[in-house]
Amino acid sequence: MSIVNEKMMGLGTVRSAIRDLFEYGLKRKKEIGAENVFDFSLGNPSVPAPPEVNESIRGLLDSTDSVVLHGYTSAVGAEDVREKIAADIQARFGAKIDKNDLYMTCGAAASLTITLNALSTPGSEFIAIAPFFPEYRVFSEAAGGVFKVVPADTEKFQIRFDALAETVNERTKALIVNSPNNPTGVIFTRKTIEELAAFLRAREEEYGHPIFLIADEPYRELVYEDVEVPYLPNLYDDTIVCYSFSKSLSLPGERIGYIAVPKDCAEHDAVFAAVAGAGRALGYVCAPSLMQRVVKECLGKTSDLSVYKKNRDLLYNALVSCGYDCVYPDGAFYLFVKSPEPDAKAFAEKAKKHELLIVPSDSFGCEGYVRLAYCVSTDMIERSLPAFEALMKEYR
Ligand code: PLP
Repeated sequence: MSIVNEKMMGLGTVRSAIRDLFEYGLKRKKEIGAENVFDFSLGNPSVPAPPEVNESIRGLLDSTDSVVLHGYTSAVGAEDVREKIAADIQARFGAKIDKNDLYMTCGAAASLTITLNALSTPGSEFIAIAPFFPEYRVFSEAAGGVFKVVPADTEKFQIRFDALAETVNERTKALIVNSPNNPTGVIFTRKTIEELAAFLRAREEEYGHPIFLIADEPYRELVYEDVEVPYLPNLYDDTIVCYSFSKSLSLPGERIGYIAVPKDCAEHDAVFAAVAGAGRALGYVCAPSLMQRVVKECLGKTSDLSVYKKNRDLLYNALVSCGYDCVYPDGAFYLFVKSPEPDAKAFAEKAKKHELLIVPSDSFGCEGYVRLAYCVSTDMIERSLPAFEALMKEYR
């Protein structure tokens, strides 16, 4: 008999490709100086939280009884916080969501693991659309589900409906949709979501049970032009929203987000109860109390997105002009670049020789690309451009 859960031991021993590269970067920065390493590995926002966040923290520390402020809230989250978030969602999207439909969490990772555990029954299949955030596989399988992938639409990075039709079956419990997308920065258009909704409705009818859409939305506000990010519950009833303030407010280390189960979602009461139950079973009750209150006071605020827009324009234009084939990102803070050789891992290794740390796309379920997180300083991007040019010269 094994002493520990071997699957968990495996997950704890083998780091993700992204984390691996990040750790390599830390080591390399010590060896040659941080200013000489161009680290595009991690989606850790470089833009500080808006000033309202720290003002709110200071204000709350001064004005709120410390026992209350640092105490447990109710398991689903403080009532006044949920009330304010629900009002904000109603005002922005007109969605039918009230405080009783919200469960406060420690960010999108917790929102996703809770939701997947809430929906998982023996044989459940969870589907992601490539390229996807690699942890979806870990979260889905840890919830007892079978993880399936719809291959990428490498023309527009929308959805390949022919492949989706082959992947969805009677055992499909949910489809995870992430837009603006990590790793491509692409936003699913209204047309794509409408087609997806029609497809899923037809399959629900055929199978006689709901197929849920899980909307993973940490990048919802990170959009650089006037491009619509459709609110999925408005186009497909059986949607569960997994939101996080990690990126919009630059608070990834504070671990705060929520799950919304809109009123019109199939089996609403059972789904919400299962969300609360999964939160309990996973130990995710009572999200950080101080942060719940901070996000309540900072709804509608974002960190300074103009920096990401500037970085996007700078990096995209420079890389295209020296010959790279890049996916144009309307949102999030990632650039998805086609590897000039078929093996993206080999390309990323060559990039390391130029001190460029970029993530090969294999773990995103779409080979032959690399992901660059441009939530870094503009200065670092400027200094990295000669290295990208020198790297491309190796392929000419
Ligand atoms: N989903 C996607 C697509 C992400 O990119 C991330 C983090 O980078 C997460 C979920 C997890 O976010 P959080 O920090 O809120 O747990």
